[in-house]
Amino acid sequence: MKKDIHPIYYDKAKIICACGNTIVTGSTQPEIHIEICSACHPFFTGKQKLIDAARRIDKFQKRLEKQTELAKVKIGRKAKRTRQIKIKKQAQ
Ligand SMILES: [Zn+2]
Repeated sequence: MKKDIHPIYYDKAKIICACGNTIVTGSTQPEIHIEICSACHPFFTGKQKLIDAARRIDKFQKRLEKQTELAKVKIGRKAKRTRQIKIKKQAQ
């Protein structure tokens, strides 16, 4: 091997998962942090689990909330309009 061009190799590097699982491996980095591993991935556990690293679910829920509120207002307007139509019809 040529001198001074290779990174330091850690033969007991740790991969640390968010679930608490650790895996010992060889790497040029002493510690690697990951979000998911074979011990907690739904494919291996068979359980449904939502991994929301980018907060996409949160954003979607907020949008949904907003939309349902808007829908309520729309329903309210429509109901008011139909009520007015009914009143007009009764006056005739
Ligand atoms: Zn894990």
